[in-house]
Amino acid sequence: MRSKPNILVTGTPGTGKTTTSAALAEATNLRHINIGDLVRDKKLHDGWDDQLECYIVNEDLVCDELEEIMEDGGNIVDHHGCDFFPERWFDRVVVLQTENSILYDRLTKRGYSGAKLTNNIECEIFQVLLEEAKDSYKEEIVVAMKSDSVDDMNRNVATITEWVRTWSSTN
Ligand code: ADP
Ligand code: MN
Repeated sequence: MRSKPNILVTGTPGTGKTTTSAALAEATNLRHINIGDLVRDKKLHDGWDDQLECYIVNEDLVCDELEEIMEDGGNIVDHHGCDFFPERWFDRVVVLQTENSILYDRLTKRGYSGAKLTNNIECEIFQVLLEEAKDSYKEEIVVAMKSDSVDDMNRNVATITEWVRTWSSTN
């Protein structure tokens, strides 16, 4: 049994996973693991996808890389997908959600356009990540959180921090 919980922060690109996870790591002293950075830095991929403009994640390599660290607990995993991690890794799965026009602005600011922009907006409209999370984990550990504003983010960080604090005393 781990002494600290593992939290997955997921959602469509631009919903605020990395910003929220960094603030949460600061507030809780848990370790922030950005899967995108890990994949790039440790080359846990099978090359670059020209069409989607992202690395082709080698899911087995990512899971092997993280197994021991996840067993120890105390991790915040930040990724735009959630169906390939072992279910037993996570005590809480947070799905961030952002209103379309706000997400659109964030992604265009990031330089997304064309199919990449449209795909991500559609991903959000159809709540793809929430469905994926519910399909992959027990519903009672999956929580959707609105991430439209800085106030939302601060509230989300406070809520999850409080949950982390009580987790240690109830397990
Ligand atoms: P993700 O990791 O999900 O792709 P980021 O954390 O990189 O998203 O956030 C994308 C952009 O949106 C950043 O410029 C960030 O500052 C901004 N942002 C993220 N969450 C919020 C929020 N809740 N309110 C306002 N701006 C946000
Ligand atoms: Mn990110």
